[in-house]
Amino acid sequence: MQYDVIIIGAGPGGIFSAFELQKLAPNKRIALFDMGHALEKRKCPIDGDKIKSCIGCKSCSIMSGFGGAGAFSDGKYNITNDFGGTLYEHIGKKKALELMHYVDEINMAYGGEGTKLYSTAGTKFKTICIQNKLNLLDASVRHLGTDINYVVLENLYNHLKDKVDFRFDTPVRHVKKTEEGFEISTDDETYSCKECIVSVGRSGSKWMETVCKEMGIPTKSNRVDLGVRVEIPAVVFSHLTDELYESKIVYRTEKFEDNVRTFCMNPNGIVVNENTNGIVTVNGHSYEDPAMKTENTNFALLVAKHFSEPFKDSNGYGESIARLSNMLGGGVIVQRFGDLVRGRRSTEKRIEEGLVRPTLAATPGDLSLVLPKRVLDGIIEMIYALDRIAPGTANDDTLLYGVEVKFYNMEVELDERLESKHKGLYIIGDGSGITHSLSHASASGVYVAREIAEKEITA
Ligand SMILES: Cc1cc2nc3c(=O)[nH]c(=O)nc-3n(C[C@H](O)[C@H](O)[C@H](O)COP(=O)(O)OP(=O)(O)OC[C@H]3O[C@@H](n4cnc5c(N)ncnc54)[C@H](O)[C@@H]3O)c2cc1C
Repeated sequence: MQYDVIIIGAGPGGIFSAFELQKLAPNKRIALFDMGHALEKRKCPIDGDKIKSCIGCKSCSIMSGFGGAGAFSDGKYNITNDFGGTLYEHIGKKKALELMHYVDEINMAYGGEGTKLYSTAGTKFKTICIQNKLNLLDASVRHLGTDINYVVLENLYNHLKDKVDFRFDTPVRHVKKTEEGFEISTDDETYSCKECIVSVGRSGSKWMETVCKEMGIPTKSNRVDLGVRVEIPAVVFSHLTDELYESKIVYRTEKFEDNVRTFCMNPNGIVVNENTNGIVTVNGHSYEDPAMKTENTNFALLVAKHFSEPFKDSNGYGESIARLSNMLGGGVIVQRFGDLVRGRRSTEKRIEEGLVRPTLAATPGDLSLVLPKRVLDGIIEMIYALDRIAPGTANDDTLLYGVEVKFYNMEVELDERLESKHKGLYIIGDGSGITHSLSHASASGVYVAREIAEKEITA
C-alpha cells in the first residue's frame, strides 16, 4: 500500500501533524499507525476493586492508542519555553510559542472552549517564593482536565477519521529507507510512503533506539529525573493552585546544590500508576468536572540526574531504581513523610490513621530503600522549603509515592526542520527527546506538517 505520508504514533505529536497536513495538503494520502487501541477501546483494567494494580497488558491503555500518553492526562497545556522540552533550540522561541498558541486555539475549537487559562504573569507568589529560596517559573497553563481533554480528542478523531487511514493495534516494526521514500513494516504488511513522521513518545523509546541504530541516526542520552509524588490535603496548596493552577517551582538544595523541582501539579486530583515498558511508576491527574474532584492535591518532586562519560544508559539507571520499588512493593510504594524522616517504613495501619486519604492503592513501605540518598535528601529539604510557603506540606501525614521517574528519550540528531539525516524522515514529540509535554509535542507535529506541505507548494 502506498501513501504520501505515514505517521507512526497517534499521540499529540502524530494527531497534530495529521490535523495540519490534511488541512494544508488535503490531496495527500495519509496513514496513521498506532500500536495501541482506538480511543473508545482504551480502558485500564485497574478498578481499585478486583484489580488493584498494574497487570501488564500487552498494550497499556494509559500510554498507548489514540491520544497517546496524553489521553487520560490532566490536560495541562503549558504555553512556555521554560519547561516541557527544548523544541525552541531547533525552531526558535518565537515560533515555538506561536505554534503552542495555535494548538491551544484548535483545542478550544474542538471542545475545550470555556476552560481556564492560568498565568504566572504579575503574581505575588513570585516574590513570596524568592523570599523563601524558591524559584517560580513563568508560564501560561490551560487546564483542560482529564474529562475535557478526552472530549477534545474525540472531536479531533471524528474530524480526521474520513481524511486519514487510521490503523490501531498495529505496531510498526521497521522503517527502511528506499529510493522513493520509506518502507514501513508491521507484523502483517509492508507499506510505502514518500515521507514519514515518527512520533512514538515515551512508550516507543526502546523501539526508537532500535530504529536509530538500524538507520544509523546519531543519538545522545544523559538524563533521567527521579523522585516521588507528594499527596497532601488540597487546602494546603489551594492559595497557589486557585490562582496559578500549576506552579513550577525550583529549589536549590543547601546540602548538595542540586535542583529539585515540582512537576505536574494536580489540584483535587488523583495519583495513578504508569506503566512504561513493564515498569510501574507513579503519576497523577485531575478532572475538570467538580463531581470528580478529590480532597487532595498531588504533585511530583523530581531531581534531575545527569551522567557523564563513560555511562550512557540514564534510562536504564532510572529503570533499575523503579524496578527496585516494584520488587519491594509489587508496584508503587507509599510512605508517610513522618515515617520517612523517622527512618521507619509505613504500615497499612499508620496510613489509615493518617489525615491524608490515599487516592492510589499502593504498598506501604520505605522509600529510603529505593531512592539514592542524595535524591531523597534533596526531596526532604524541598518539602521543608515548600512548607514555608504552604504550611502543612511537611506534616507527618503527607504521603509520598515512589517512584516517579521521568524518562527522557535519547535525543535524536535532527536539523532545524526536525528532519533526520534521511531526507523525508521527521522525528517529533517525546520520541525525539526534544519535547516532554503535550504542548511541545503538539507544536512539533504542526511544525513538520507545515514543512511537508510547504515542500509541495514550492515543488
Ligand atoms: C498520566 C500522564 C499524565 C500526563 N500529564 C501531562 C500534562 O498534564 N501535561 C503535559 O504537558 N504532559 C503530560 N503528560 C505527558 C504527555 O502526555 C506527553 O508529553 C505527550 O503525550 C507526548 O506526546 P507524543 O505524541 O510525543 O507521544 P505519546 O503521547 O507518548 O504518543 C506516542 C504514541 O505512539 C505509539 N507508538 C509507540 N511505538 C509505536 C510503534 N512502534 N508503532 C506504532 N505506534 C507506536 C504509542 O502507542 C502512543 O500512542 C502526561 C503523561 C502521562 C502518562
